[in-house]
Amino acid sequence: MNIPKLEHLARSNSGVQHEAPAAHVAGPQSKEDSTNLVEAVVMMVDDEPLNIEVIQVHLEEAGYTKFCSTSEPMEALGLIVEHRPDVLLLDLMMPGMSGYEILAQLAAENLLKDVPAIVLTSSRDSATKLKALELGATDFLAKPVDPSELLLRLRNTLAAKAYRDRLANYDLLTGLPNRHTFMDRLDWALRHSGRYRHNGAVLHVGLDEFKQVNEALGPALADTMLQRVAQRLENCLRTTDTVVRLEDGPRPSLSRFSGDEFAILLPLVRKSEDVVRVAQRILGAIAEPFHVSELELAVTCSIGIAVFPDDGVKADTVVKNAGAAMHHVKQLGKNTFQFYSSELNARALQKLTLANELRKALERDELRLYYQPKVDIRTDLISGAEALVRWPHSKRGWVPPDEFIPLAEDSGLIVPLGEWVMRAACRQMKTWRSAGFTIPRIAVNVSSYQFKGGRLAEGFAEILSETGAQAHDFSFELTEGVLMENMHDNVQTLRELKNIGVKLSIDDFGTGYSSLSYLHKFPIDELKIDRSFIAEVKSADDRAAIITAIIAMAHSLGLSVVAEGVETAPQLAFLKAQGCDEFQGYFKSKPVSAEEFASRFLKHEQG
Ligand code: C2E
Ligand code: MG
Ligand code: MG
Repeated sequence: MNIPKLEHLARSNSGVQHEAPAAHVAGPQSKEDSTNLVEAVVMMVDDEPLNIEVIQVHLEEAGYTKFCSTSEPMEALGLIVEHRPDVLLLDLMMPGMSGYEILAQLAAENLLKDVPAIVLTSSRDSATKLKALELGATDFLAKPVDPSELLLRLRNTLAAKAYRDRLANYDLLTGLPNRHTFMDRLDWALRHSGRYRHNGAVLHVGLDEFKQVNEALGPALADTMLQRVAQRLENCLRTTDTVVRLEDGPRPSLSRFSGDEFAILLPLVRKSEDVVRVAQRILGAIAEPFHVSELELAVTCSIGIAVFPDDGVKADTVVKNAGAAMHHVKQLGKNTFQFYSSELNARALQKLTLANELRKALERDELRLYYQPKVDIRTDLISGAEALVRWPHSKRGWVPPDEFIPLAEDSGLIVPLGEWVMRAACRQMKTWRSAGFTIPRIAVNVSSYQFKGGRLAEGFAEILSETGAQAHDFSFELTEGVLMENMHDNVQTLRELKNIGVKLSIDDFGTGYSSLSYLHKFPIDELKIDRSFIAEVKSADDRAAIITAIIAMAHSLGLSVVAEGVETAPQLAFLKAQGCDEFQGYFKSKPVSAEEFASRFLKHEQG
């Protein structure tokens, strides 16, 4: 009995050398679709299984791996619908149903009529060929099959199909996926979000006043401008990855919708604030001047956001709502973003207000530094103090840094805020020194945004000389992101900091992506194990094993280890037994004001 089979076989290792079919197809450039032609799914229908096997062997030798075949012509159509092959190799003379009938059925189906079919025939008769051509066959192959001819005809057919697909699915000017492809992806994302119960978002980005640009520049330069816009949007999505993509989750995608309109799909979104961050990045990136043919041009854009499933579970609805939100922005005066949902708009507005208040608080010097002791585990003596910024807000009380640091990062306030923190810490050090205390090192938290521009070490050196503090009295706590992003420039900054005498510490270790084996590349002195590991530790479980391994490996790399968030005596006992060097946590003390720190910890030190 002949059983239809679907095979995804590994590349053949027969060692026979065949030139692989050309992978490149003329047409609009697309970074997404450089798929090799040998990646194509080849379907074969022939009542003689041996023919199928012979052809498959030839194709495998040439690198093809995806096959789908049947020797039951009656099953052909079902398989085509199911597997959507890129090309069909079709025998004409078969019992039960002829190749002609299959061609006729394909032609009648809207979804299938574009599947290219190469007809296999031993007939020399031109009427046979004409009839097949009339029914939509794209090419012929004489039986018995000559392997070289097979590969060439297959390659040409696939190249033509790839070109057609690109014309149908990509935008010619920018090479981005077009609306049609976007809707397909959105459809998929919506189904995924329904099944796994997560959120996603569509951002509809429209350029403001692009008509004027078009008229002023003429179509050729306006096209160049649109290509630049597309590039900037793509760059934004690249840096967006860490915000809106869970590990191994689906990637954001960008498409050109029409003339001056683009759409972005964020298939996986954890919170609406993440979408706001992306929108703000886009607004910032587009607002930077464009240099086109020696002209400096400025444009802005308006962004409408729909979040799914809340704003729709069908692709059309989601896109329509994102579009409506974008038109609303245009009416409001452009160059900003709006959610379709009024509730999310209210929340975004609240954040914006808070960011403005933070700016004022910074100007009015209303922020405060609190200090939490770091303790030497062996001697129980204070070994340092971590400076943690506090914002006493007139109406909200103390706003936690986890809330306002991301806000500062998004609004560009983080650089002046970071400078304020460094300056305040330096002044505190001087004050304590003048009062005659023996002072432990102060640890300052530094955001990865402060590394941009490469002026961090220089800036800190200026603050040191301005305040008269010493670099070796400070350590900087960085997150793993600093090591992962923009590695070349950041390592340079880290070296400069080391050179002036600042100790470097990796904060929240274990929550990011870096591995221990990677750390030796960086001039790091200390690791701080994230408090989530400590909180869950019960000896002899997995977490305990991870902590033990981190400590051992860090020591072998010459790094000292600090445990964060130690709250109980058993946690401390466990860490001590593992040889951890220092700890921080409520078990010793919460972060306290500078005055309280001095009276509880520094005086005590003095005896
Ligand atoms: P972090 O640097 O990991 O700071 C430790 C956080 O853990 C502090 O929260 C501290 O109050 C808290 N903590 C300390 N011991 C315990 C404990 O035993 N149990 C528990 N549950 N928590 C403990 P805080 O002050 O709210 O700061 C949160 C984060 O905000 C910091 O995490 C840091 O990433 C950021 N941050 C704080 N100050 C600054 C700053 O001046 N600049 C920058 N860039 N970021 C800062
Ligand atoms: Mg820290
Ligand atoms: Mg930490």
